Amino acid sequence: MKYVSVAVDGPAGSGKSTITKLVAKELGYNYVDTGAMYRALTYNFLSNGLKELEENDIKNLLENVDFRVEYVNGVQYVYVNNVEVSDKIRTAEVSKYTSLFAKSPAVREFLIDTQRNLAGTNNIIMDGRDIASVVLPNADVKIFLTASVEERARRRMLDFERQGIENVDFEKVKEDIKARDWQDENRDIAPLIKVESATLIDTTTMTIEEVVARMTNLVKVVEK
Ligand code: C5P
Repeated sequence: MKYVSVAVDGPAGSGKSTITKLVAKELGYNYVDTGAMYRALTYNFLSNGLKELEENDIKNLLENVDFRVEYVNGVQYVYVNNVEVSDKIRTAEVSKYTSLFAKSPAVREFLIDTQRNLAGTNNIIMDGRDIASVVLPNADVKIFLTASVEERARRRMLDFERQGIENVDFEKVKEDIKARDWQDENRDIAPLIKVESATLIDTTTMTIEEVVARMTNLVKVVEK
């Protein structure tokens, strides 16, 4: 059986994970959140006291980590040394260090096979930074989601509000997003880019429902 694979790339706060999750549910696909995989490895590095991009230390920790992902009803669960870490990897500290460790060749190499293998075993929609360009260059559908920096910062502020985190400075959130964009777009390996064959969707003035409908339609065309 040929499975459908959908690649979704875009910068932090573009709505990728919220929207991709909903599209996956609508279509009955597995939602593969590659950012969570980078975050989980970062969480492991930080738990072991590593805060520098030291390739040898990284390799050492990767050799000793038990890393695995599971899908239940399309939802991804990430395990590090048999502990499910999905709710521990969303802190500001993990976000900041993930962009740093995502530059490591050993980290990217470690995750790429896991990510590619998932596409051969189910209908999947995978989001990240390098999905169409590196991980699944032959994906059936490629989408690049973006939004203005202001709008992305506004969405992050709403996330903080929902989590009950107060006194967050808008300008600081904006600067953090810009810093992560810069790191993701300018690293040597697998930088964030829009491949020519990807459909660009600028979500700045769109509702979540509008983006979900647009993406679902793009996938339905190839399912036929
Ligand atoms: O998507 P999310 O914000 O969870 O990703 C966290 C970080 O992981 C990104 O800022 C990026 O540095 C890294 N990442 C990556 N390649 C991916 C997915 C995420 O480098 N495919």
